[in-house]
Amino acid sequence: MTVTQDRPMTYAKMRGLVSFFSVFFFFFLPLFVCFSVRIKPSDFDYLRVIGRGSFGKVLLARHRKQGGYYAVKVLQKQAIVKHKEQRHVMSERSVLLKGLQHPFLVGLHFSFQTPNMLYFVLDYVNGGELFYHLQREGSFPELRSAFYAAEMAMALGYLHSLDIVYRDLKPENILLDSGGHVMLTDFGLCKEGVSIGGMMHTFCGTPEYLAPEVLRGHPYSPAVDWWGLGAVLFEMLYGLPPFYSHSKAEMFENKLHAPLQLRSGVSQSARSLLKGLLERDPTRRLGANSDLVELQEHSFFASTNWDDLLARKVKPPFVPNVTGPCDVSQIDPEFTLQPVPASVNDRCQRSAASEAFPGFSFMNPVEYMRTKGHCRRR
Ligand code: ATP
Ligand code: MG
Repeated sequence: MTVTQDRPMTYAKMRGLVSFFSVFFFFFLPLFVCFSVRIKPSDFDYLRVIGRGSFGKVLLARHRKQGGYYAVKVLQKQAIVKHKEQRHVMSERSVLLKGLQHPFLVGLHFSFQTPNMLYFVLDYVNGGELFYHLQREGSFPELRSAFYAAEMAMALGYLHSLDIVYRDLKPENILLDSGGHVMLTDFGLCKEGVSIGGMMHTFCGTPEYLAPEVLRGHPYSPAVDWWGLGAVLFEMLYGLPPFYSHSKAEMFENKLHAPLQLRSGVSQSARSLLKGLLERDPTRRLGANSDLVELQEHSFFASTNWDDLLARKVKPPFVPNVTGPCDVSQIDPEFTLQPVPASVNDRCQRSAASEAFPGFSFMNPVEYMRTKGHCRRR
């Protein structure tokens, strides 16, 4: 008689299996999908303009077959090539493609291209830009600011843990979802492969929120994001960005040399956090050593339960007044009143820029299952 003994699965074997399935799911399946399912502009009905980016528009769209609502970012290839920004656009795609999954980051479902246009199909987030709400209210109370800052900090810490620096934290890129939670969008300036101690050199970002080392053209690290968070927190509490001046040159100068003005009316712990984040020396900035953990330990966040926050169990201090997925009432009428441009259904001739983005197209594996009817519609 032979006795067969079940051999237990070792940890190493388990890791091997997990790696195999990850590679299959995030690399081979999308590759296969791109060749087997072609997504095209006419798969969507474009309903409204909901935002403007540097190279095109963001539109609310409905998938004709599946019925789901998405935000479709449509970029003009020619404009990108003219400004030599191909690298940033491909980096946005590659960052979104990393399969980022975080409760406070916008997810990518598909990317595809036509001869003249590039398309990113993203989660539609309809609570409005944080900037829109901030402009309407002037400033936010401390508890509300702490809630948004904490959710942003978690998203940034997650990106840093994957060696990605966000770099472009500014109120226009911070959206609220219909429940009032933060969602960071726009991965165009993200830099991959930068570890907490690592450095990078390229100059980009938005002047108001740029860290001083970036302005100086010095190498910079993930600590730039903690400066960005400090700048956004400052603006939420005081109503204007730090070192603000009507003159850009003066603002640059202030950022490099002027003392940080922390007016009264804000608690001691908020001022201490702002001082830590808006520290000019990036090596002494809060977060420079152990990243998110340093912020989590700060007294400003003493009442924040980080586990509940991540599980989206903390009740948002403000819930946008939206009735459904296609409600655009919280989005600036500056955008929603614009007509949907006919060019989104690009059927034009090829141009010099047509071939400038090889390998851009992508389909999220979950979407693939959905198009093949393996998943339930949402
Ligand atoms: P810029 O470089 O000028 O910041 P961009 O070209 O990178 O712009 P985005 O910032 O990604 O473009 O998008 C422009 C605007 O569109 C955002 O500020 C936001 O208002 C809106 N938007 C972007 N993504 C979404 C989304 N997923 N859901 C709803 N609105 C969005
Ligand atoms: Mg943007």
